[in-house]
Amino acid sequence: MDVLLIQPPTGSYRRDDRCQSRVEDQTIQVHFPPMDLAHHAAVLERDGFECAIRDYSTAGTPLGRALEEIGGIRPKMVFFSSTQPTQANDLAFAQRIKDLLGEVTVVLRGESVTFQDQVILSEYPQVDFILRGESEETLSELASLLLKAKPIPLEEIAGLSFRGGGMTIRTPDRPFIKDLNRLPWPARHLLDQSLYRSPETGNTITTLYAARGCPYPCIFCPAPLASGRPVRLRAVSDLLAEIRHCVEEYGIREFLFHGDTFTYSREWVLELCRAIEEAGLRIRWGCNSRVDTIDPEMLRAMKRAGCWVIGFGVESGHEETLKRVRKAVKREKIVEAFRMCREAGIRSHAFFVFGFPWETEEHLAADLVLAREIDPDFFDFNIAYPLPGTELLAMVQNESLYHEERVDQGGYAVPATRTHALSAEELDRWRRKALLSLYLRPSYIARTLWLAGSPRKTFNYIRAGARRLRQLLSNRRSSPVIEEFPADSAEPLPRASLPEAKATGA
Ligand code: SF4
Repeated sequence: MDVLLIQPPTGSYRRDDRCQSRVEDQTIQVHFPPMDLAHHAAVLERDGFECAIRDYSTAGTPLGRALEEIGGIRPKMVFFSSTQPTQANDLAFAQRIKDLLGEVTVVLRGESVTFQDQVILSEYPQVDFILRGESEETLSELASLLLKAKPIPLEEIAGLSFRGGGMTIRTPDRPFIKDLNRLPWPARHLLDQSLYRSPETGNTITTLYAARGCPYPCIFCPAPLASGRPVRLRAVSDLLAEIRHCVEEYGIREFLFHGDTFTYSREWVLELCRAIEEAGLRIRWGCNSRVDTIDPEMLRAMKRAGCWVIGFGVESGHEETLKRVRKAVKREKIVEAFRMCREAGIRSHAFFVFGFPWETEEHLAADLVLAREIDPDFFDFNIAYPLPGTELLAMVQNESLYHEERVDQGGYAVPATRTHALSAEELDRWRRKALLSLYLRPSYIARTLWLAGSPRKTFNYIRAGARRLRQLLSNRRSSPVIEEFPADSAEPLPRASLPEAKATGA
């Protein structure tokens, strides 16, 4: 086996560059396939490498069994995406792989390691290479050099960080892929599709990378850093062909369109919706959007093409926060967007963020007022999570608001920061209070069950709701992941500390 691409058995997390959080801390607790791995595997296979993908985290594979399987596969290279909340355990798992296989090459990618490459490579010898930025081609070029002895000097592989001469060598950044249609479709045949189910219907679900890039400057979001500012759209014909392939080859009819702002180009969305509708594929899908990029005609077209839910980064109900996070939307635009969705018969998911440095109880109360006013079908209140490379991280570090010791503990649900007015504990209490007070409205429960539409879905909603309430009412405040490592194995390594970080007390 040339390359084994894995999701380590270190807890169930969204490992997207933009969304790095525990699955169980979100309202819709869905396990999406690791499409980042499938995209990298597709390029490797195109270039003649033998690959396999193992999603140990979604499969719930115990550490020992995962290591046993990896020992049996004996890959020459192991590759995975690391995120900020999983980093400590990812590094510990990389060490186990090195201990097991000795000569194996361990390669990491991901938004968080891209910005911490020097710290990780200098402190963690179990990591051999870090791929920075968009890395499908980088991985294949590296594999060509190491596994096929192609005469490409390491220094000429763009977007690569590695050790050399006692220091970290960073090759120049790799330009973003201009034409996404050049990339092969993800290697879905390497995934165990049965692991990925819609929590609502129980049907198999998959994601489709429709677009990459975001031109907006939101201070907390790594999307423009990870995917670039120009929005790169896939050709509608290519996307439609991939959808058809999923339907015909795998029987998959439920999709999430992955794109930082799926509705950025009105013409493209209308063209795609028309194509899906005319193809008669009878699919069901969701996407992410911005409140200022939709209109009634677009929503009607999306509904006809099978769109049932749209997620919006609302962030805040307070004009000061909307302005200072540079979201570039007004409160009334948010209200209008949710009204338009309701009129179009598309369900809405609102994502709020609590805990920007300047926020007081007044700001969080304004979020709750807006949430009640727009009355979304699904909602999350995430604690601001300062990700590497973002302006928010620099801000909380400079203003001594950063709780670095909590960064590993879970992402959006366990505060890794505080505000000047509110402690981490107060932010946690506000989050729970906001979620519980909105979930437990009788009108909300009645509407959710009414809209479920079938006994099976009603049962799934009741089950998901009960689980969510149990989680919110429990006292679990931190990730149990590290403790899940068996006692008879070596302790996980401590996480890398960011050189410029200042941990503070609440
Ligand atoms: S609009 Fe803002 S939050 Fe949304 S993807 Fe772009 S930068 Fe991120």
